[in-house]
Amino acid sequence: MAARVLDGAAIATEIRAELAPRVAEFERRAGRQPGLSIVLVGDKADSQIYVSSKLKSAADEGINASLSHLAADASLDQILALVDKLNRDPTTDGILVQSPLPDRLGPAAMQQVFDLIDPSKDVDGFTPVNVGRLSQNRADLVPCTPAGIVELLKRTGIAIAGKHAVVIGRSDIVGKPVSMLLLHRNATVTICHSRTADLPAVAATGDILVAAVGRPGFVRKPFLKPGATVIDVGINRVTDEAAAKELLGAKRFESFLKRGSAVVGDVHPEVSEVAGAITPVPGGVGPLTVAMLMSNTLRAAELRVK
Ligand code: NAD
Repeated sequence: MAARVLDGAAIATEIRAELAPRVAEFERRAGRQPGLSIVLVGDKADSQIYVSSKLKSAADEGINASLSHLAADASLDQILALVDKLNRDPTTDGILVQSPLPDRLGPAAMQQVFDLIDPSKDVDGFTPVNVGRLSQNRADLVPCTPAGIVELLKRTGIAIAGKHAVVIGRSDIVGKPVSMLLLHRNATVTICHSRTADLPAVAATGDILVAAVGRPGFVRKPFLKPGATVIDVGINRVTDEAAAKELLGAKRFESFLKRGSAVVGDVHPEVSEVAGAITPVPGGVGPLTVAMLMSNTLRAAELRVK
């Protein structure tokens, strides 16, 4: 039997609708809209798409989002100076620096940015203070994708407490924080990564399997405990026709042939035959990430005005 599809887009709409009265109440009390400042460095096409979708969603929600777009050759000092300015701007409630930064700035640049962002404006939840608070289960601002995953499980009635959750991926953005959130909701959590021995066998012990790997179609049938819930976090652009044919349904493959690329997740379509429930890509975790960003911006605004 095909797995139940967990409609992240519908849940994201539900979450955003719930924000509307709180946004109105904030505006009444503060005399202004909640403010989100997005910093984009360079012209990476995918980053531009993500930023546009965040700006649009903010406008729909009554959040005043502004974009500071720095050139691809901006220095780290310029980026830090901008963050410092936004930290001091009283109408900026949330600061989001779109990752990744240009490669030439080096692997430590993003961390230096997070080290500077005012934790009370850290709507990504990536500053050291908020990471620490998350590990202590007292975070106000939780990373958006992990928070979206937990909302999705909660709102689709999938039990977490007492279940075994296997998370594939240990990044600071997804793997580690989602593991922490699932742990705080009383799951028994196993974190897998590129050095995990016999990964399929470990994955197949999970009642909940979260795939945050960044490899198209990586999770196959042998990774699954029959009936498990599968959360596909991957957003991978495929341009290879053979891969697209294997990973896309007939309709999406037709559109791939016209466009030359398509987005797929980390989970192979064959997994639907064994899973109990699964998130689609697109339309699963992605829309929730944006909804939780709006939720975090409002939360940051409310806390700052309080
Ligand atoms: P990352 O590259 O920082 O981390 C990938 C993780 O996968 C690493 O911890 C690594 O150990 C693990 N990994 C890599 N190869 C592996 C292998 N062969 N076996 C087991 N583990 C392996 O990536 P990330 O930022 O965590 O993102 C992961 C995926 O999620 C990407 O496709 C990204 O685009 C997507 N993503 C989606 C959203 C969303 O809103 N849906 C948000 C963030 C990231």
